[in-house]
Amino acid sequence: MESRTTDWDIVIVGAGIIGCSIAWHLRQSSLRILLVERAEPGGLATNAAAGILGPLNETSSPGPLLDLMQESLAMYPAFVDEVQRSSGLSADLVPSGILSVATSQDEMKQLLSRWEWQKSEGKDLTFLQADQVRKEFPELSKDILGAIHYPHESHVFAPRLLKGLLGGLGRTSVVFRSGTSIRKIRPEPKNEMTAETSHGDRIRSRQIVLTPGAYLNEMEVPDPVPPIIPANGQILSVRIPDFSLRKVVFYPEKGYFVPKLDGTVVIGATEETVGFQTRVTPRGIMEFLSPLEHVCPRLLDAPLQMTWSGLRPKTPDCLPVLGSHPHYPNLVFATGHYRNGILLAPVTGKKIARLLLAGNPGDSSLLPFSPARFI
Ligand SMILES: Cc1cc2nc3c(=O)[nH]c(=O)nc-3n(C[C@H](O)[C@H](O)[C@H](O)COP(=O)(O)OP(=O)(O)OC[C@H]3O[C@@H](n4cnc5c(N)ncnc54)[C@H](O)[C@@H]3O)c2cc1C
Repeated sequence: MESRTTDWDIVIVGAGIIGCSIAWHLRQSSLRILLVERAEPGGLATNAAAGILGPLNETSSPGPLLDLMQESLAMYPAFVDEVQRSSGLSADLVPSGILSVATSQDEMKQLLSRWEWQKSEGKDLTFLQADQVRKEFPELSKDILGAIHYPHESHVFAPRLLKGLLGGLGRTSVVFRSGTSIRKIRPEPKNEMTAETSHGDRIRSRQIVLTPGAYLNEMEVPDPVPPIIPANGQILSVRIPDFSLRKVVFYPEKGYFVPKLDGTVVIGATEETVGFQTRVTPRGIMEFLSPLEHVCPRLLDAPLQMTWSGLRPKTPDCLPVLGSHPHYPNLVFATGHYRNGILLAPVTGKKIARLLLAGNPGDSSLLPFSPARFI
């Protein structure tokens, strides 16, 4: 079959939460915008996520990543509201608050040191002693020695938010093309770029944004390309409709559970470097189920509903990659969101859309995330 060439102003490669949020923030422009997806939107990250929106819970020090995450969290209610109004689909955003608990003296030390730096930064959080935890959250184990409460952190149903974004985009001039796998990105004369599909078709555009999650390095892209490592996460859900605790709970090492509005509780997650494998193993799930005995044993007796695993797009410094290619300003990266891509979706969409529309870096808050750091 003969190859075809089509022309666009902006092509976004990958319809996960990041690609869709960028398209969403561009939807009112008069530009010709194409969003391409090779398989199921949300691939192996967005659809796997627990949907926790917890900047303070996720950070070990102040800095640009925490600032970016807090900016994004603040955008969430309006973002979800707009998507819901446009698509008619609820994304189940719940302003639940997060509890970060300790069950040993070592964990208490770590919790207290986190509490101290966050308090000194003027953040909104409270420390709960063991007896307060017991009184306020009777579903939790008596083994808990103390907890930090983050009142403003929340969670969302990520796959439904993605569906809402795609539904809303369907009512705009943004064109969505699924079943289109991009194999290669090539610079062209006159400041244009071409994305070549696996069928040999060429999509020419004034600007291309790469949002393929963990799969960036599977594509042929002009050097230098930021290194993205797939970080596998195993996760599961149990069904427990009469569970009265509504908080997201984090427990060491990296375990958490999230009571969803539909009567399920999502419990996760491992973090492994096993390439592009997505599998669930008994040893993997034991890692975050065993500690639950001392956090919330009731969850261990609830009927298991589903297990799954996904791939977080991780960079060597664990920061996202947001900005233009060092040699080709009209090739833009937005990936590497690692553990917090759902949280960071609104702010990424807003800032990358601005970058594309303004045609220059402009926003200095993106500098710490520049792809140039990998040269
Ligand atoms: C178990 C687990 C739990 C998580 N929990 C949370 C959480 O609680 N909170 C949070 O904020 N984050 C969480 N994350 C992280 C979050 O899911 C990711 O950071 C985020 O989804 C990344 O989104 P993305 O759009 O970059 O990637 P993806 O969702 O992977 O989307 C990329 C898309 O690009 C497509 N694509 C790839 N290559 C090509 C190509 N060559 N051509 C065309 N299309 C292509 C893929 O098919 C896919 O649809 C979790 C992740 C995992 C795995």
